[in-house]
Amino acid sequence: ASSQAPWAWFDGRMVSLDSPQAPLTTHAMHYGSGVFEGIRSYATDDGGAAVFRLPEHMERMRKGAVLLGIDFDVAQASEAVLQTLRANQHRDAYIRPLAWLGSGTIGLDVAPLTQHLMVATIAQPVHLAGKAARLGVSGWRRNPAKSLPPLKLCGGYINSVLAKREAKQRGFDEALFVDDEGVVVECTGANVFMVKDGAITAARHADALDGITRATLIELTGATSRPVSLEELKQADEVFVCGTAAEVAPIASLDDVVFGENPVTREFQALYARIVRGQDARFAHWLTTV
Ligand code: PMP
Repeated sequence: ASSQAPWAWFDGRMVSLDSPQAPLTTHAMHYGSGVFEGIRSYATDDGGAAVFRLPEHMERMRKGAVLLGIDFDVAQASEAVLQTLRANQHRDAYIRPLAWLGSGTIGLDVAPLTQHLMVATIAQPVHLAGKAARLGVSGWRRNPAKSLPPLKLCGGYINSVLAKREAKQRGFDEALFVDDEGVVVECTGANVFMVKDGAITAARHADALDGITRATLIELTGATSRPVSLEELKQADEVFVCGTAAEVAPIASLDDVVFGENPVTREFQALYARIVRGQDARFAHWLTTV
């Protein structure tokens, strides 16, 4: 099956990843009118692979599609994810489904437009606990939820692209968004947690994406979900960020505040790593076998 790998699922067929050509008038390319997901699959001890929390990712994608007027069949998209993983023989992989509006008008009205769905999978080597990231408070504000709901809408990610660019230019690895009141929102592609005197807190904000990894960690650690100010975050014993791609990532520093060895974070990192690989039977219901 993998002789022409990498394969991608595109509008109902398996195609070679680089072969499809999009018209230059593609609406999503001009206006960001698409919705995507970031999902991960992991190699399991039985020699197979499993997708972590696939239904939750598909449900979030469906919400974004509804908002854009894109028809979205959860069962079809889920099957497309599994088919692509199988065709590519990927086990540890990052999975990128994207639904978007195609051609039909150069105007903003979406009614005349064609609709498309693709799934690509990218082999992702098991990454061992990497170096803790240096976080810098962004000069940019997060898209306010009242202007753009915190879903994985393509156009919304230009906000993350700008913040990431700014962070890198200033010598940081990642940006932290705070609001006008100094309340923590999230990072460019991950949610924020802190540990203080043994208490675990998940920063909550209306403008932040409702992360699936965040929900997972709240369930696993009993963390309290509440608003957290930047001042409070800077006084934490440990700060970590989490997301499908980031998994559980310790933070080395926030602006000029340096954190320590992050022992609690490392513990959660190891716990999460076991669960996503199916090594904890209590959470087998979070896995979809490939
Ligand atoms: N916030 C943003 C802006 C993101 O893009 C992501 C990644 N999807 C997250 C948080 C984390 O969400 P999840 O745990 O569902 O991947």
